[in-house]
Amino acid sequence: MEPQRYQQLLEGLKRLKLRHVRQTLEERNEAAIARQLSYLEYLALLVDDEVAARQATQVQKRLQAARFPSGMTLEEFDFTVQTSVNRQAILDLARLQFVERHENVVLVGPPGVGKTHLAVALGRKAVDRGYRVLFLTVDRLVNDLYASLADGTLKSRLKSYQSQDLLILDELGYLPMDATASNHLFQVISGAYEHCSVIVTSNVPFQEWGHVFATPTLAAAGLDRLLHHAHVFSLRGESYRLRWDTDPALSQAT
Ligand code: ADP
Ligand code: MG
Repeated sequence: MEPQRYQQLLEGLKRLKLRHVRQTLEERNEAAIARQLSYLEYLALLVDDEVAARQATQVQKRLQAARFPSGMTLEEFDFTVQTSVNRQAILDLARLQFVERHENVVLVGPPGVGKTHLAVALGRKAVDRGYRVLFLTVDRLVNDLYASLADGTLKSRLKSYQSQDLLILDELGYLPMDATASNHLFQVISGAYEHCSVIVTSNVPFQEWGHVFATPTLAAAGLDRLLHHAHVFSLRGESYRLRWDTDPALSQAT
């Protein structure tokens, strides 16, 4: 190809924002010649490159936007120490049909049993699959909504939660909420209802949610929406964090 024509091609690709095609053009061209690919096959390879690279960039961006705590992948979760949760049921959720169907997941249990880990693990799978996910502690959610109330951005913040595919609300019930905070949380839950999946983790059994929300009515209404299409897991057991102190084999190893 004439150098000038080639330059034109590169500039055209730039204008069309086909950055990855620009990058793999030469390499793919050589491969196409060597393997005697048809024009269409060659074009398909270039398009594949662009699509794959864009997807990877998007997943990377969404991973950052999700604000997950570090680690906590599904592969790292040891189901042999946490036997109160059905491994198969979690693996089934990891197929993410629940996100597609706007269903919820509720993980209840005492501290350290892996609730946050499982919530994040499912969230990470969802990001890998291209979904928009946001992880927040309820405490953070409440504070952010208070700040938005103060600067007049409450509506748009509530909308931004609804526009997620999956919202993870960690640690419901660690701190009691006042009337405004309860109301905000209720708005988040009812806004998500049948639009966006929610995963909630809590150390408070359902019967006691009335004490977490400022009024039993809000608690009941919130619980109602949350549980309508929900996969509920009650986790039991000793805290994984204390494992090193109690397992003689592990403490000897240190
Ligand atoms: P919870 O949210 O129930 O209080 P976490 O999910 O935060 O507990 O778990 C506490 C710590 O122990 C985390 O670092 C988590 O990664 C780890 N952990 C808990 N359960 C398991 C498990 N079954 N396999 C591997 N790591 C676990
Ligand atoms: Mg937790």
